[in-house]
Amino acid sequence: AAKSDPDSSHRLYDPSIKDSRAERRALEGALKSAHENREFELFYQPILDLATNRMWGCEALVRWKHPAKGMISPLQFIPTAEESGLIGPIGDWILEEACSTAMTWDLPLSVAVNLSPVQFKRRDVFASVKKALDMSGMPAHRLVLEVTESVKLTEEATATLKRLKGLGVSISLDDFGTGYASMSYLSSFPFDKIKIDQSFVRGMMESPDSRAIIKATIGLANDLRMSTTAEGVETQEQLNALRSAGASQAQGYFIAKPMPREAIAAFIADSQKAQQNRRGEQLPTRA
Ligand code: C2E
Ligand code: MG
Ligand code: MG
Ligand code: MG
Repeated sequence: AAKSDPDSSHRLYDPSIKDSRAERRALEGALKSAHENREFELFYQPILDLATNRMWGCEALVRWKHPAKGMISPLQFIPTAEESGLIGPIGDWILEEACSTAMTWDLPLSVAVNLSPVQFKRRDVFASVKKALDMSGMPAHRLVLEVTESVKLTEEATATLKRLKGLGVSISLDDFGTGYASMSYLSSFPFDKIKIDQSFVRGMMESPDSRAIIKATIGLANDLRMSTTAEGVETQEQLNALRSAGASQAQGYFIAKPMPREAIAAFIADSQKAQQNRRGEQLPTRA
């Protein structure tokens, strides 16, 4: 009854809401011990450079390896980690783990790490990034930080991003085109890269509108001297069309799925061998 009742005061007595509050508290507790017990794991998804057809780098994506429930998606726990402030220490761990893992790869590829707005509001994110770079020894130019429009570009946040760029870190605007104010957001900070949201890529072969948005985004990025990564590429047709449209990079299941630390190291070692073989083929052959 409470659901169809327009009087919002009744919601206070809605048992399903009480349940969800209790659930959230339980999840908070579980996340806290998950962090202490090191149950989080980073997966890495390759990003392809469309100009060279070589690997450009990887995006680090967090998962919760729950001892009983198995692998849990970040969509299911990042919001609670943000509300509780736990994203602070978890985010620090993510930065350090991503940088130190990238240092083990056979090729000096870039690694992209997602940042939560809460890390800007409640944490000295500059200090966290600096510490991750110092501890891992990874050069700053290999690190890309992905932010979305949900990071409010206050004077303070903008100054932090500029200091990070000063270190040599790149800043990427994730999920472009899905927020309320993409254009004004874009004009308020010199991003290095725009990530075209997968919702546009998903429909692009059927929808001329999606293709128009992708084309316009790539043109805009070029004019602003930013590169572009198309997300959610699932077919060869999409990849071909994005290459013709002039996207700089592509990421998606068609190229490779996110994979654990050991698998990405092997994937990169293979791609290095493939590069060496290609170079070998180019050597002049004796008659
Ligand atoms: P995102 O940063 O936009 O990451 C891309 C998401 O698209 C990932 O989902 C990835 O697995 C998925 N994806 C990649 N290629 C394809 C494809 O071809 N098809 C489809 N359908 N999906 C594809 P995931 O790993 O579930 O992450 C979801 C979101 O959770 C991320 O979106 C990001 O906003 C957040 N997230 C993930 N890891 C972190 C993290 O370490 N820190 C923070 N703060 N947020 C994170
Ligand atoms: Mg991202
Ligand atoms: Mg995205
Ligand atoms: Mg997203």
